[in-house]
Amino acid sequence: MFETLISGAIVVNADGLNRSDVGIAGGKVVALVAPGETAEAGTVIDASGCFLLPGLVDAHAHLRDPGLTHKEDFSSGTHAAALGGVTTVLDMPTDEPWTATHRQLADKMAIAEGRIHVDVGVQAVVSRDLSLIPGLLDLAPVSFELFTADVPDGFLFATLDDVAEALKAFAGTDTLVGISPGDQSILAGSTVLERSGTIAAFLDSRPPLAEANGIARALVAAASAEARVHVRQINSELGVETWSRLRGMADASVETTPQNLFFTASDYETQGGNLKASPPLRSPQDIDALRAALRAGLIDVVATDHAPHAPAEKAAPYAAFADIPGGMPGLQTLLPTMLRLVDQGLIALPDLVRMCSTNPAERFGLGRRKGRIGIGYDADVLILDPRQCSTIANADQVSRAGYTPFEGWSVKARLANVLLRGREIVREGKLIGTALGTIATRES
Ligand SMILES: [Zn+2]
Repeated sequence: MFETLISGAIVVNADGLNRSDVGIAGGKVVALVAPGETAEAGTVIDASGCFLLPGLVDAHAHLRDPGLTHKEDFSSGTHAAALGGVTTVLDMPTDEPWTATHRQLADKMAIAEGRIHVDVGVQAVVSRDLSLIPGLLDLAPVSFELFTADVPDGFLFATLDDVAEALKAFAGTDTLVGISPGDQSILAGSTVLERSGTIAAFLDSRPPLAEANGIARALVAAASAEARVHVRQINSELGVETWSRLRGMADASVETTPQNLFFTASDYETQGGNLKASPPLRSPQDIDALRAALRAGLIDVVATDHAPHAPAEKAAPYAAFADIPGGMPGLQTLLPTMLRLVDQGLIALPDLVRMCSTNPAERFGLGRRKGRIGIGYDADVLILDPRQCSTIANADQVSRAGYTPFEGWSVKARLANVLLRGREIVREGKLIGTALGTIATRES
């Protein structure tokens, strides 16, 4: 007998749709039962007419804990994740302090325990002191993050030589290294030349050329060091072209974000600093190229770069547009914005699962537990009702950012329930139960 049986729905995995009932016991999927076949269960959830998706895995989020908890904390950020159907959040290392030592990583994992509503995988940062890497690897973080521009000196790897040397420390470890494709030389040069502080100056400081060079440098360095890399959010036509030509050189994946698939630089005129982040938003031509790449299967992962700030921080006056704190919330809106791409016919539901669940789970060392509704996998399940519409509203956002750039957008589906390892954590759009999340470490 199963603890729980979800009946009557269509299961959506990355490889397609399948009509079957899902038997759950001990937090895992233990059976996929043909519809109509009798099966006993302690609890039966009738999901007739619904789709079942594996819980989303957001590969790029900043939960701001410890040290920046006026912006977000483990509880508020994972609450937003749960309501958005993100059952695993992969948390970036740029809090206060940055997650750079064994002790800092262990402390962060300990702080999160008992306060998280979904599972959280923690990412460590590569600092200039490469001798710290083995101690960090002992704690099995889901990945490391290596920065090439726009960060404090202790974490800056600005040249090809720097990046290649750092990646050598990961050769043969099978651990993924995330790299944001920027270029410090272009950033520094533009800062000297252009001091107007306008939106145009901000765009010029982080142009597609910087992104393209960052992608190329990550790929050749990874090929040379035989390391595994994940190129963080790309959004330009030149970046897409560079990625599509060079991606076969290394064991590499690439991501983009919903905001980059929907907004252009002209949207700064209406949304202002609420949309300010790096990389900058691009032109309509860039978006078209990015969307074409998504449709063609060239983008491996769509992640949020959930990077909230307190409302007062975004609203304060700044001398330059570039000085506005970068980032926006996204965890609660990943699923509806991706469903909008399904509504638009750009992708199908299995593509959504592939880019927002299966691929991030596999790339970040969680692929035997997460990313699929299948026997032996964690029973992280989203019940999606396509007969009802839902609308994204600022008033419903639980992130401390207090807004969403997607205010007022509607999609033709509603997330009815969310299960985390077999336990229902969201029902009718509300969090139920308390902090059932655990720290997810990299599979060995
Ligand atoms: Zn980020």
